[in-house]
Amino acid sequence: MTPVLRTVAELRGVVRGWKAAGDMVGVVPTMGALHDGHLSLARRARKECDRVITTIFVNPKQFNNPEDLKQYPRSETADAALLATVPVDTIFAPQPEEVYPDGYMTTVSVGGVSEPLEGRMRPGHFDGVATVVTKLFGMTLADRGYFGQKDWQQLQVVQRLVRDLNLPVAVVGCETIREADGLAMSSRNLRLDSAARAKAPVLYAAITAAAEDIRAGQSDRMAIREAAEKVRAAGFERVEYIELRDAETLMPSDDSSRPRRMLAAAWTGGVRLIDHIPV
Ligand code: AMP
Repeated sequence: MTPVLRTVAELRGVVRGWKAAGDMVGVVPTMGALHDGHLSLARRARKECDRVITTIFVNPKQFNNPEDLKQYPRSETADAALLATVPVDTIFAPQPEEVYPDGYMTTVSVGGVSEPLEGRMRPGHFDGVATVVTKLFGMTLADRGYFGQKDWQQLQVVQRLVRDLNLPVAVVGCETIREADGLAMSSRNLRLDSAARAKAPVLYAAITAAAEDIRAGQSDRMAIREAAEKVRAAGFERVEYIELRDAETLMPSDDSSRPRRMLAAAWTGGVRLIDHIPV
């Protein structure tokens, strides 16, 4: 079985040994409830690094909604069994008190790219992400960090953070892994009941069609409006946003000569889904 470490001191001891031997260390930060999306990150890290750490930490600071935090799925035993198939060298799964001990006072806040879309809908979320990612880099002393494109805005926030703070970590963005019907894999999909699960793939289908229509010459606004209508017609209870943005800055963009992404967030069966597609 893969060793599970709970304290920063233990982790540092192990990593110092690896570094003394000249090993390159990769970290895959997760909140557990692992699926093939997470495992694809770990497998990529396995290929590119001598040592791989997967962290499992449901970070309270990135939940703007206490109910979401309470309901977030936790399955460490199953997660460890999945990680043993990669395999990874160690699992770092600290308790909240280890990460945020008494007297903890520091927040890392990335401007600009953190502000729109997810930042607006989930106040404080990206401060929580930026803070914990900075800490996990410091705790693991990793040379490379693996993140999913699934959370596109988060990936841009982490890239900005690493550049702005000169963190000595190479950030690797990995492709989104999807179910056969197109739904992006997510730990939150476990909370979809069968009716909501049946509707869920419509979000990706709708933005995929909109991206194709834009490439074929339809106006951005019309394509987005049609996508939102499709999602509502499928029975989603709420479309939070469907927006076409600059892929890196996440600012509104009608400049089709620059890489753009269409990003979406919508609710079905009481579960919030996000997805995105290059345009
Ligand atoms: P989470 O446990 O949801 O915080 O996700 C941990 C990491 O896995 C993040 O970098 C996510 O972007 C990534 N991830 C989650 N779902 C997927 C997916 N379907 N495909 C690729 N990466 C993913």
